[in-house]
Amino acid sequence: MSGPRTAGASGPAVATASELYAEALALETEAAERYAELADQMETHNNREVAGLFRKLADIEGRHAAALRARAGVSLASGTGGSRLLAERPETAPLGEAHYLMTPAHALQLALASEERAEAFFRGLARDGADPEIRGLAAAFADEEREHIELLRAWLAKYPMPQSGWADDPDPPVLSE
Ligand code: ZN
Repeated sequence: MSGPRTAGASGPAVATASELYAEALALETEAAERYAELADQMETHNNREVAGLFRKLADIEGRHAAALRARAGVSLASGTGGSRLLAERPETAPLGEAHYLMTPAHALQLALASEERAEAFFRGLARDGADPEIRGLAAAFADEEREHIELLRAWLAKYPMPQSGWADDPDPPVLSE
C-alpha cells in the first residue's frame, strides 16, 4: 500500500512521502526526548511550572511521533536509507547549549528555535516538495509545528529573556549571583 515512488535519486533530501514521514518522525522523536531532558533540568532547578510545560511538549511530540508512525505504516520499516535524512534533525534542541542555559527563558528560547527550524523545514517542502502529496503533508506538518511555536511564545511572554545577545557569547556564563 505504498504511494507512488518517485525515482529522485538526485533530488533534494526528501524525495518521497515515505522519506518525509521518516524525517518528521525522527524530528518528533528527538524533540520528545529533548523536551523530557529539559523538563528534568527545570525540575533540578525547582521550576516545576516550566518543567510541566516541557513535559507537556514532550507528550505532544511523543504522541505526534506515534501518530506519524501509525500513518506511515510499513513504509518506514522498509529502510529506505533514511540515515542521511536523520542527520539533519532541524527540530533538535542542542543540549550542549542547554546544559548551562538553564533558566526557563533560555530553555524556552532553545525550544522555540528548534520548533522554528522544524517549521521552516516543512514550510520549504510545502512549497518546493517533489510532488503534491509531499507538499500537502509538509504543509500539515508545518502547521503543527506552528502550534508548538505559538505555545512556546506564550510561555516566553511569561518568562522573558533576561538579556539579549546571550547566544553570541562563546564562553559558558560565570555564575554571578
Ligand atoms: Zn514540534
